[in-house]
Amino acid sequence: MKIGILGGGQLARMLVQAGLPLGFSFLIVDPKADACARSLGEFVCADYDAPRALQALASCDRVTCDFENVPAAALETLAAEVAVAPAASAVAAAQDRLAEKRRFVELGIDTPDFQAVDGRTDLARAADALGYPLVLKTRRMGYDGKGQYVIQGPEDLELAWRELGDQPLIAEQFIAFDHECAITAVRARDGELRFWPLSRTWHRGGILRLAMGGAAHPLERRAREMVEQLAVALDYVGCLTLELFVAGDRLLANEFAPRVHNSAHWTIEGAVCSQFENHLRAVAGLPLGATALRAPAVMVNFIGALPDPRDWLGLPDLHWHDYAKQPRAGRKVGHATLLAQSPAGFSVLESLLEAKDRQTLAVIAALPPGSNSTT
Ligand code: AMP
Repeated sequence: MKIGILGGGQLARMLVQAGLPLGFSFLIVDPKADACARSLGEFVCADYDAPRALQALASCDRVTCDFENVPAAALETLAAEVAVAPAASAVAAAQDRLAEKRRFVELGIDTPDFQAVDGRTDLARAADALGYPLVLKTRRMGYDGKGQYVIQGPEDLELAWRELGDQPLIAEQFIAFDHECAITAVRARDGELRFWPLSRTWHRGGILRLAMGGAAHPLERRAREMVEQLAVALDYVGCLTLELFVAGDRLLANEFAPRVHNSAHWTIEGAVCSQFENHLRAVAGLPLGATALRAPAVMVNFIGALPDPRDWLGLPDLHWHDYAKQPRAGRKVGHATLLAQSPAGFSVLESLLEAKDRQTLAVIAALPPGSNSTT
């Protein structure tokens, strides 16, 4: 079976890595000539809606995406000729933060209070309604903290407006959360839905730095209900992640990703079947794999440049992922996943992380070999 992927970044790369043992072949489309998945399959360097790209994708057996900001119209066109999953409508639902938040409200999914901002006076009005601090975000094309401005008080309004004001925006109440988490589910064509254990997540500068899978969470059941409501409402096929803020006993949806997601990279080694393999199984119409935990896992993102692997590879059960990208500030260039060799070892990691939230990367990097086990 040949699978076409719109987008050739690290997510496409890991999809291909998961799909080769299933016997799949891949065609990757990306406008960037240096897309890091390009060498793993047939590669078409073109805009997603270029006739050349659409023709190549239409010749595949299935089509999916490695990111959500592809033109929904291109997916719609393709759907007339080839099975596309997730559907154009589900991908489009995640492209506009305002529509996304309105959808949460419609579905009864709790989310931070928000206001549409289409002009300078709207911003002042939103600040009055929401109070400070508030977060101003672009409605489209924002990711990894790009297109966001935290407004601390009235003195920041002008600066934020100058930075972002020439496009449709959304203002959100700033949530002083206790922590963040994400829930990933996979839904098959027949509606079967499976969930991986909840991921705890840590962001800095709007970019995910660290994710941990396998720790019990008191709100996990509610998180599952929320992502299920969304998946059913979107008649979703494939992997879907809902990013959440935890504030006291409240769970608030921040956003969802209609694709495989960074917070669940740990499932490659930490779960029976990874998000990547299950996404492909769902897209291909094959039975889903088990999402149960194999071992508690911590995943560290490498941003900008990779550290020296010699400092890491000595850790037992450490798994290295180099995306073969050129180093660049703010760019995700790889990740490492550390599996805890026992639940007790995991709680050591967990308490380190709790205690040193801000220095999580340094803490993990400094773990001496063997310290993730009880012995
Ligand atoms: P986003 O691009 O919306 O996923 O935001 C990236 C990160 O910025 C989130 O994971 C949070 O750490 C932070 N953030 C975004 N929106 C808010 C908010 N309304 N309140 C507090 N923090 C936020």
